[in-house]
Amino acid sequence: GSYDSRRSTRIAGTNDTMSAQILDGRAISAEIRSDIKKQVDGLLAVGGRRPGLAVVLVGENPASQVYVRNKQKACAEVGFHSELHALDADVSAKDLLALIDDLNARESIDGILVQLPLPAHMDEEAIIERILPTKDVDGFHPYNVGRLVLRMPLLRPCTPKGVMTMLGRTGRSLSGLDAVIIGQSNIVGRPMALELLAARCTITVCHSRTKDLAEKARNADILVAAVGRPEFVPGDWVKQGAIVIDVGINRTEDGKLVGDVDFAGASRRASWITPVPGGVGPMTIATLLENTLQAAELHSSQQA
Ligand code: NAP
Repeated sequence: GSYDSRRSTRIAGTNDTMSAQILDGRAISAEIRSDIKKQVDGLLAVGGRRPGLAVVLVGENPASQVYVRNKQKACAEVGFHSELHALDADVSAKDLLALIDDLNARESIDGILVQLPLPAHMDEEAIIERILPTKDVDGFHPYNVGRLVLRMPLLRPCTPKGVMTMLGRTGRSLSGLDAVIIGQSNIVGRPMALELLAARCTITVCHSRTKDLAEKARNADILVAAVGRPEFVPGDWVKQGAIVIDVGINRTEDGKLVGDVDFAGASRRASWITPVPGGVGPMTIATLLENTLQAAELHSSQQA
């Protein structure tokens, strides 16, 4: 039925045949990208400098190659300068650090993104720490993570920040809601928890040792799945009316992309849900563009 009839059904409480409203990451990210493009055009019109992103890719991980290509394409579309530094898998840490030093020093580069994972012989933390914090557009440098912990964020990790943008589009106040995050990785789960805590949610962070996971999930007003297992969260873990954010990107044997949540089952209970593909993924890239523009603003105010 129409939007209105679904809504009135929900109010009447007969929820079992209904479906959640979709948080459309493609549509929201397209708005963000077009807004950034306008800002870049405005900058250039007054003789400003074009924001620049350097992407560093080590080795030939096929998923990483796809992500890097998408990031570069997004940069080109909004008018950023972007450059790819593709290094052999056996590059020495010394050479990689020298490249980062070079990019740190270059005025035309506002953002430096080292695509993870790095090959096993490399110390990821040491590489990330070498990036100038104001050029750390992934928000993974300990300086930027610390700022987020202390509620004085500078550059914020893209995926969780993009999720916060999507949550804003629900129009719901997040203050006081119970948020359950499944996954505690440095790039998704942890910063997601910090973002939601800063928004005054009560947070529960779950991981592989968590007991009674289903029970915890069923208490969530906001349920974030960042596990990396196809359809790990069944529909009956979703509380009636919850907001469900599916960060997972998993490829099934027949080549289909699926999230960490059983989308069909969860949609019958959730008020809002993100699809996969077309949910969190495109928001991550749009947020990377936001961060690069933010870094460019930081650098031009430093130069001024
Ligand atoms: P990760 O580093 O592998 O972390 C997975 C987390 O899930 C860990 O904290 C792990 O717990 C937890 N976990 C694993 N099995 C579990 C279980 N049975 N019960 C409860 N928790 C369990 O993965 P990630 O980098 O955070 O990524 C998660 C997913 O998001 C992946 O599918 C990835 O492809 C996707 N992703 C998407 C985007 C995007 O833009 N949409 C960005 C980044 C990642 P332990 O800590 O105890 O091991």
